[in-house]
Formats: sequence, C-alpha cells, structure tokens
Amino acid sequence: MILLVEDEQSISRPLASALQREGFDTVIAASVAEARERLAEATPDLVLLDLMLPDGSGFDVLRHLRSAGDVPVVVLTARGEEADRIVGLELGADDYVVKPFSAREVAARIRAVLRRAARQRSHGSDSAIEIGGLRLDPGRHSVELDGEELELSPKEYDLLHRLMRDAGTVVTREQLIEDVWDMNWFGSTKTLDVHVSSLRRKLGDDPAHPRYIHTIRGVGFRFSSPDEARE
Ligand code: CA
Repeated sequence: MILLVEDEQSISRPLASALQREGFDTVIAASVAEARERLAEATPDLVLLDLMLPDGSGFDVLRHLRSAGDVPVVVLTARGEEADRIVGLELGADDYVVKPFSAREVAARIRAVLRRAARQRSHGSDSAIEIGGLRLDPGRHSVELDGEELELSPKEYDLLHRLMRDAGTVVTREQLIEDVWDMNWFGSTKTLDVHVSSLRRKLGDDPAHPRYIHTIRGVGFRFSSPDEARE
C-alpha cells in the first residue's frame, strides 16, 4: 500500500487514481494528523509526502516515520531549492519529485525506490564489517566506533556501508549517487558532499587528514583503515 500525504485534492485525487491504475493500492491522508492515523493502522510499502500540510510540515511525518522504522519516503516538493532537497535527503527521504509532476514520473520513482529498498533488505543479511575500530553491522543496522554506537542518518549509514564494502578501493561519485540515492546523474554533487562531510564529522575524521574516508579528487572516495593510512 502507498500512503499519499497531500492536502491539495486537485493533486491527490488524480494521482491516487493514476497510481491505482498502475497497480499501486493507494491511500490518501490530507494532514499530518491523518497521516499519523493511517500509519498507526498499517505500515505502507512507501510514503509519498507533501511538505506543506495544513497542520504542520511533512518533515514532522518524516521524523515520525524515521523513529519508527525504515519505510521508504518520496518527498513531493513545490520548492525547487537545492537546500530543501538536501534537508529532505538529510532527514532520510529516499527521493523527491518536484511539482508539477506527471503521475507517470511519480510511478517510475516509486518503482525505483521500492526496487532499491528490496535490494537493501536482501543485503540486510550481510555479515558485520570491522575495519580499524569501526564496526558496521547490517543485521542490527548499527555502527560502532571504538565500541561506542554512532547515530547516523539512514543515508549516512548507506553511504558508509557502500564505502566499507569496497574498503581499500576507490568508489566513484557516480557509483555512490547511484547506489545510495538511486538517482540519475544530474551533475550536482552537493548532496553527496554534504553527506560525506557529516559522516566524517561523526567519525571524527579531519577532512585535511582523514583516517577513514579519503577524497580522491575528481573521482570519488576510498575507505581505508587508519593503520593503513599511517603507512
Ligand atoms: Ca500542500
């Protein structure tokens, strides 16, 4: 079931009918309160989330969702600003579409995000990776640095997981964007850089002399263990 959180009926009604025709069972919620009620009744496969709601912000719904689990979220935004997009991704939205959009575009996004969620679930049985005091456990979806649990956003976790899986080798920026965000490459790299910066901060990595995440200028990033970096 897809939960469509959108207060404008001129958008929600035709979109819900189009999605139904595409084979997605769709339920509409027109406010933050209604979204919470629907979420208490059943866990959707995916949430389509408008940000400007009459009783609050879609971000409130996003926070609520993220505290409860890992339901994929696609943000429907009327605001095109890069900053808002990054905030959306920072909070763990899986993707966004900018209004006005076509139902076909939304359906394509839904399919891409659901595919990626399924892929990540199948990776969920991976064994823990431990490198230089850093331990990432996909089974528990947790990361520990020297025995202390780190609080990472879902995207920071995915990014670290992707880099640690290929530790010692360079992962290109394009590959990271594709694997972590599943987006087509538009040339904008801000979102990736914002996430790498915040991840480094949480790992206590100094960008000038990183212990873990090394920048390979113009190419991408490489995860190394601190011991290796000293050599
Ligand atoms: Ca709205």
